[in-house]
Amino acid sequence: MSKRRSVDLRSDTFSLPSPEMYEALQRAALGDDVYGEDPTVNMLEARAAALTGKEAALLVSSGTQANLVALLSLCDRGDEVLLGGGSDLFNFETGGIAAVAGLHPRPLDDEAGYISPEAVAAAVRPRDVHFGRTRLLCLENTHARSGGTPIPLDLLRALAEIAAKRGLLVHMDGARLFNAAVAQGVDPAEIAAHVHSVSFCLSKGLSCPAGSILCGAAGFIEKARRARKMLGGGMRQAGWLAAPGLVALDNIGRLAEDHARAQRLAVGLMGIDGLRVDAQRVRTNIVIVELQSPDGDAATLISALREQGVRCFSLGKGLRMVVHRNIDDADVEYTLAACRRAMGATTESARPGRSGPY
Ligand SMILES: *Cc1c(COP(=O)(O)O)cnc(C)c1O
Repeated sequence: MSKRRSVDLRSDTFSLPSPEMYEALQRAALGDDVYGEDPTVNMLEARAAALTGKEAALLVSSGTQANLVALLSLCDRGDEVLLGGGSDLFNFETGGIAAVAGLHPRPLDDEAGYISPEAVAAAVRPRDVHFGRTRLLCLENTHARSGGTPIPLDLLRALAEIAAKRGLLVHMDGARLFNAAVAQGVDPAEIAAHVHSVSFCLSKGLSCPAGSILCGAAGFIEKARRARKMLGGGMRQAGWLAAPGLVALDNIGRLAEDHARAQRLAVGLMGIDGLRVDAQRVRTNIVIVELQSPDGDAATLISALREQGVRCFSLGKGLRMVVHRNIDDADVEYTLAACRRAMGATTESARPGRSGPY
């Protein structure tokens, strides 16, 4: 049995900053960002705007705040927002869309990893005094719940076209935008060209300590700056967060290593009796694992893995493993071995006639 390791595959938010990031934050020039005077933040925002091909950008505290600030800047109270039923925005942002922004979320099917243009067309409400105004379409790219799926570019084009035709604005929750860009081999700007606003997280695969960036037209970012302040998100010497962000944006290509390891993990898991993984669907850094037996118990598997130092999140009928900067080749091998041991144990104890102590 190989030496016990600690492998945290729960999320890429568990990634830690690199030594270069610590160095950069010690050297960072600082100022008060609420007055627009932090040179490091200004540099990061300019860099993010250029990368996404937008006029301007805004550093915010989290992905949740980026989405909320975008909603507040793009919509009026009472507007209806089309979004994925499996999206982070709909499920995991504490209902801020309704509670804070006063908007009406309308969930659409996104089980495939994206919303279909037909679903958008069918959901837009006619102008009628009975209806809220359908104002915004929110897209998640990559789509976390379905396993880090990047939205195919032709589909994104079709979604943008239907939105434009029906008078909708489009916001992209691109928490993992660069995972999509790297997987698709395109510039992030090529993806962002189809949407009015796009956010991305510094704190996930980019392994910064905290922060997200919202990008869009200059007038939109001006509004967003006010919304951020209103939400209590005006940070002062935020160059400490921006400095690691600049290092991260110089190393986006590194995400390809995470994708390759996720692929190796998926292929390895496919070879383990009792587990079901669709390695072809693993395009970025997220691997979804299901149990073959319909009454298989993901919780038992998760705790058996945890006893061996491997941590992952439950998805109800399966589990999720997310590869990030702090997961190396040996961690992948160790995880596969841990899964083999866990599944061996599970199958044996489930075998009839072998339930006694042994
Ligand atoms: C993580 C995540 C968010 C929220 O980001 P936080 O920084 O955790 O608030 C939003 N959208 C998606 C798709 C995410 O994965």
